[in-house]
Amino acid sequence: MHAAYLRPASLEEALEALAARPLTVLAGGTDHYPARVGRDAVEDILDLTALASLKGISRALAGWRIGAATSWTDVIEARLPPLFDALKLAAREVGGVQIQNAGTVAGNLCNASPAADGVPALLVLDASVELASRRGSRLVPLEDFIVGPRKTARAADELVTAVLVPAPRHDARSHFLKLGARKYLVISIAMVAIVVETEQGTVRAARIAVGACSPVARRLPSLEKALEGRALDDKLAELVRPEHVAALQPIDDVRSSADYRRHAATVLVRRGLQSLAGRG
Ligand SMILES: Cc1cc2nc3c(=O)[nH]c(=O)nc-3n(C[C@H](O)[C@H](O)[C@H](O)COP(=O)(O)OP(=O)(O)OC[C@H]3O[C@@H](n4cnc5c(N)ncnc54)[C@H](O)[C@@H]3O)c2cc1C
Repeated sequence: MHAAYLRPASLEEALEALAARPLTVLAGGTDHYPARVGRDAVEDILDLTALASLKGISRALAGWRIGAATSWTDVIEARLPPLFDALKLAAREVGGVQIQNAGTVAGNLCNASPAADGVPALLVLDASVELASRRGSRLVPLEDFIVGPRKTARAADELVTAVLVPAPRHDARSHFLKLGARKYLVISIAMVAIVVETEQGTVRAARIAVGACSPVARRLPSLEKALEGRALDDKLAELVRPEHVAALQPIDDVRSSADYRRHAATVLVRRGLQSLAGRG
C-alpha cells in the first residue's frame, strides 16, 4: 500500500507537498508502474493528474509552451507548424494509442531513458525545461537537464512545469525517423530528429539529434555546421560522413550491435535529409 497518495488540484499545493517531504511524482504512470511490477507500492505518491494548468500547448511571442502534463495524444492533435512535425512523428511512436493517451512529455524527459523518443525530437527544437519549487522557478536547456541514463538535473523538491520551445528565426521544417526490430510498439535501436531552417531554399541552420546510440541522445554539431549555407536538395544527404556520427557511443545489447546502431543512425540521418529536401 502507498503510505500516502496525494492528488493536489493546484500547483501551489503540489509544490508545498513536495517541499515538505520526499514524494514520488506520478504523471501518466506509463514508465512508473512498469518499473515496479512485482514490487509492493510503498512510495509516497504525488499524482499530477488533477493539475489542469500543466496540460496543453500554448503560443507566446517568443515561442511555444508545452505544459508538463501534455500527453502524446495532445501533441499529435495540436495545431502546430511544420517545425513540430518531428515531435508529432515521435509522439506517434511512443507505444500504442493507450500509452499516448496517458504518457506525458515531461514523464518521457524525467524518466531519462536513452531510448526515449521524445528527447531527440525536443533537442532539435532547442527546448528548455521549466522547473518550479517553493524556492522559485528556473529554466534548464534540455541538453543540460538529462545528465545520464535515468538521471536528470531536477532537485527532489522541483516539478517540471513546462517545456519551452523558442520560435525559429527562419522557415523551419522537421522530420523524425525511428528504427526498431518491428514496425510498431518497439524500443528504438536508433532514432533521428532533424530541423532545418531555410531562407529561399538555402539552409540557414540545421539541428540533428540521434537517440538510443549514446547514454543520452545527442546532437551532431559537425554535421549541422556542414549543412549551413547549402541548398536544401537531394545532395544534402551526400554530405553525411561517418566522422559526423563518430562522437556517438552506441552499445551492444539484445536489440542491436553497436556497429549496426552507428550505421543505422547514419542511414536515418541521410533518409531524414532526403525527406526534408523532397518536401521543398
Ligand atoms: C507499453 C509501453 C510502450 C512504451 N513505448 C515507448 C516508446 O515507444 N517510446 C518511448 O519513448 N517511451 C515509451 N514508453 C514509455 C512511456 O510511455 C513514456 O516515456 C511516457 O512519456 C512517460 O510519461 P508518463 O506521464 O507516463 O510518466 P510517469 O510514468 O508518470 O513518470 C515517469 C518519470 O517522470 C517523473 N515525472 C513525470 N512527470 C513529472 C513532472 N512534471 N515533474 C517531475 N517529474 C516528473 C516521474 O516521477 C517518473 O520518474 C512506453 C511505455 C509502455 C508501458
